[in-house]
Amino acid sequence: TYGRYPLVPVRGEDTRIWDADGKEYTDFVAGLAVVNLGHCHPKVVEAIREQAGTLIHTSNLFHIPPQIELAKRLVESSFADKVFFCNSGAEANEAAIKLARKYSHDKYGEGRGDILTMLDSFHGRTLATIAATGQEKFKKGFYPPSPGFVHVPFDDPAAAEEAITDATCAVLVEPIQGEGGVNIPGEGYLAGLRRLCDEKDLVLIFDEVQTGMGRTGELFAYEHEGVEPDVMTLAKSLAGGTAIGAMLAREPFVSALGPGTHASTFGGNFLATAAGVAAMDVLTEGSLLENCRKMGAYFKSALETLREGHPCILEIRARGLLIGIELDHDGAGYVPQAMERGFLINCTMGNILRFLPPLTITQKEIDALLAVLDKILPGPEQAAKEPDA
Ligand code: PLP
Repeated sequence: TYGRYPLVPVRGEDTRIWDADGKEYTDFVAGLAVVNLGHCHPKVVEAIREQAGTLIHTSNLFHIPPQIELAKRLVESSFADKVFFCNSGAEANEAAIKLARKYSHDKYGEGRGDILTMLDSFHGRTLATIAATGQEKFKKGFYPPSPGFVHVPFDDPAAAEEAITDATCAVLVEPIQGEGGVNIPGEGYLAGLRRLCDEKDLVLIFDEVQTGMGRTGELFAYEHEGVEPDVMTLAKSLAGGTAIGAMLAREPFVSALGPGTHASTFGGNFLATAAGVAAMDVLTEGSLLENCRKMGAYFKSALETLREGHPCILEIRARGLLIGIELDHDGAGYVPQAMERGFLINCTMGNILRFLPPLTITQKEIDALLAVLDKILPGPEQAAKEPDA
């Protein structure tokens, strides 16, 4: 189901990967915001090796010490009281949707299961999460849509307020939209949603699958505004590159899902959660978050300078190392051009070049990418044109 680039990676270390021919690439995609600690971080590798040789899987019929340890660390460093583990972002969002509906059902009865989500959002590829996602292209061909999702424009608190009815039970939102083009809402937007949810007893769910685990310079993006959700979903970088998903929730909401209401065979298994504990240690004990903030600010200002010579860059949007530049033309063709020159970058929404490097990225590596962008993007004298693919 994938359109793939002609690249076969065989080895990775920190910000670099090497292909089957031995060519080196600096990775500004990081496995789509998964490898925040850099490829094959030695502490994560060691934890996986050790756990793999001890016990890999038993199921959730039993207590799993590294799962308990990871849950403890997540609870200690967030708003949450409890954690449910699964295997992906979509699965974490499914759990959040179920929790919100169950909470509402137990308190208010049937008929209050609608969830407000945002246009241009992305929440995953399962049937419920494509219905939650506010982009038609992910739903096309897969009708009928899973019911109970109402979409409103992002960063528009009045539209959200207007759309809430007696059937609404929750608001699901990314604090910053990632796939949707690195859309950063205005200050006060998340606080406005918080207020609305408090007034109407709605569950506020933050999808931090992409923004979480340090990507924006704080452990979780909600910390920038100090607005806490009731439920938060994580995945991607949580276990240093191995498959994991998590739903974090606080009381009283979390108690809506008691034993028997939800489950996942692999969720929170020994291997993934041992990797998760190691990844959490690396992220919280070292200077990665500080480097993310510093390099994010440097990257942004370097892009502002680049823009002076390239008016085709309409806007630069950045928070930490979640960075997008909006072009006035299609950007997909720049990805293979950058690859040819030894850099992995991403294009989303057709015209947004997105950069999600490991949080260990250096100024020198950013400068090297910027030199490539300077070469491949059209200058002021060139009319915006489709790049050569
Ligand atoms: N939510 C957000 C904000 C995402 O960015 C993604 C993936 O890109 C998902 C959910 C889905 O995660 P997964 O692909 O692990 O199911």
